[in-house]
Amino acid sequence: MPVPPLVIVLSGLDPTGGAGLLADIRALAAAGVRISPLITANTLQGPNRNARFEPVNSSILAEQLELIYHSFKPAAVKIGMLGSVENALVIDEFLKKTRLPSVLDPVMQASSGGALVSDGIIEMIQKTAPQITLITPNKDELSRLSGLNITTGKDIFPAAEILTRMGFQALLVKGGHFEGDPRDYFFLRGELKHSFKGKRHAYTVRGTGCHLASSIAGMLALGQSLDEAVKNGYFYVQKMITDYKNAGNGILPADMQI
Ligand code: PLP
Repeated sequence: MPVPPLVIVLSGLDPTGGAGLLADIRALAAAGVRISPLITANTLQGPNRNARFEPVNSSILAEQLELIYHSFKPAAVKIGMLGSVENALVIDEFLKKTRLPSVLDPVMQASSGGALVSDGIIEMIQKTAPQITLITPNKDELSRLSGLNITTGKDIFPAAEILTRMGFQALLVKGGHFEGDPRDYFFLRGELKHSFKGKRHAYTVRGTGCHLASSIAGMLALGQSLDEAVKNGYFYVQKMITDYKNAGNGILPADMQI
């Protein structure tokens, strides 16, 4: 049997398991790839509490990346929470050097409340643009990265233009935080390639952004085109959201909240 490709995941650890590294691992396992999990930050978050976090030491992160790269030949990288400017610099250097395909979920906020970014991280995300194959911002992340006040779906277009000019070659803008039925928009080199119209559910599933970006990274590692990977990642997350409903209330483990 051929050995599946390896994906490096750089993410924050959410001890509830609902988002962050554990969500990434579930999505990548579902994609059928091998996983190299690297923690960028330890977080404290959960119901009724504002998130706090502590980044890992960036020199250990740099050494971990070197070790994995030289020992195991990774095929793609998924990046979530960065934790610190120093970590962001290490990751930017690593991507410059290796030119590996990468999916960046520009995580900024925990849904329980509280920032998952510190000063300077948003500027670092902007600077790392040329190294990123696909960025997957939600409404607020797109606002903060573009500097535009985004309120309706129409505002996505000028913001996508700004991010394209920053150097992001592809964007998947997640529509879940807009009013009404959610629509996600996939832009390639500034052009709208595809939009996905979903259905609004009466419940919330945590970690969908982590699952989406990780699933796409997994598909890229398996050799799919960006277009195919985005579609397959999107449908994987839609199915996950529906499956959570079918799992029923009250019997869900800690990482499944509806
Ligand atoms: N915590 C970590 C470590 C994350 O990476 C993410 C990802 O987006 C979140 C929290 C936010 O997820 P949610 O919006 O489901 O709380």
